[in-house]
Amino acid sequence: MNAEPQGALFPARHWHMLADGRIQCDVCPRYCKLNDGQRGLCFVRARAGDHLVLTTYGRSSGFCVDPIEKKPLNHFLPGTPVLSFGTAGCNLTCKFCQNWDISKAREIDRLNDAASPAQIAAMAAQLNCRSVAYTYNDPVVFLEYAIDTAISCRQHGLKNVAVTAGYIGAAARREFFAHMDAANVDLKAFTEDFYHQLCGGHLSDVLETLVYLKHETSVWLEITTLLIPGKNDSDDELAALAAWVAKELGPDVPLHFTAFHPDWKLREIGNTPAATLGRARAIARAAGLRYVYTGNVHDEAGGSTFCHGCGATLIGRDWYRLTAWGLNADGACRACGTALPGLFDPRPGDWGRKRLPVRLKR
Ligand code: SF4
Repeated sequence: MNAEPQGALFPARHWHMLADGRIQCDVCPRYCKLNDGQRGLCFVRARAGDHLVLTTYGRSSGFCVDPIEKKPLNHFLPGTPVLSFGTAGCNLTCKFCQNWDISKAREIDRLNDAASPAQIAAMAAQLNCRSVAYTYNDPVVFLEYAIDTAISCRQHGLKNVAVTAGYIGAAARREFFAHMDAANVDLKAFTEDFYHQLCGGHLSDVLETLVYLKHETSVWLEITTLLIPGKNDSDDELAALAAWVAKELGPDVPLHFTAFHPDWKLREIGNTPAATLGRARAIARAAGLRYVYTGNVHDEAGGSTFCHGCGATLIGRDWYRLTAWGLNADGACRACGTALPGLFDPRPGDWGRKRLPVRLKR
């Protein structure tokens, strides 16, 4: 555990006092046990006296308006802008982290945008966003801030999107996802060994979150697996992952395979070849999954949505830009009437692929 809490202290939820006087955080399956002054592994939840506090409440690492496809979500208000933000810290220790400057940030000064939940929601509405995404670092570790922001966003008619690794305890999971409308959950691999060696976590807890989201909530769910050459991309592992998704979650949950680039502590492995993504997509489709995508590579077929009923192109994509729209106003195929699972406006959004960094006006 780390010492000396600092930054804005907000009362945290989901903890209890142990018989030995330590406080156990129950937000995630690490269940950090803290003496006074110590921080949890995520570095942003800390013990202050006889309470647990969140040290990043109301402070962001920055805001950006992105295409919703960048989260990635391909079946949730396609073509619309989403205001994305994060804080600092993470509850996994992925050696391949692709966002490490934020998630591993230990200096609260890295958080240079002070922003209340009401200010964030107002800014998103003003920028004509349809949703706000809790992303960049895992919102599980800033749960109280994310939930208060989500409540404000719903008051403005905005949707809420969680981009998360799904590593969260049962009670925190119920509370957090009650405020979300869509989630993209990282399924980092399909072996306990990978989670243990490379992430410091457990696969089984993530699978529990996926099953919970699919069967006990109305949150729209998509899954992303970052393919790391030689680590999680064997035919057998991909087939097992896809078969599990098809059996436990059903064939309509979109699955994204994205390309790794060397980063953080995993720099000796090269970029994921495009052929690996194509192979993964073929394996997952053969396992019965209907909507399988490739990401972080230029692959129009792998990025587009096709009708499960007749094969027509429903949503064409070139990177994050929509190039074709084959849905009727009810979100079904214009050619054959087969419904496309997800949430769709009568017309596609026209945000395109641009990214717009924004600062909160003081
Ligand atoms: S969120 Fe997880 S990592 Fe952070 S203090 Fe709580 S149990 Fe520990």
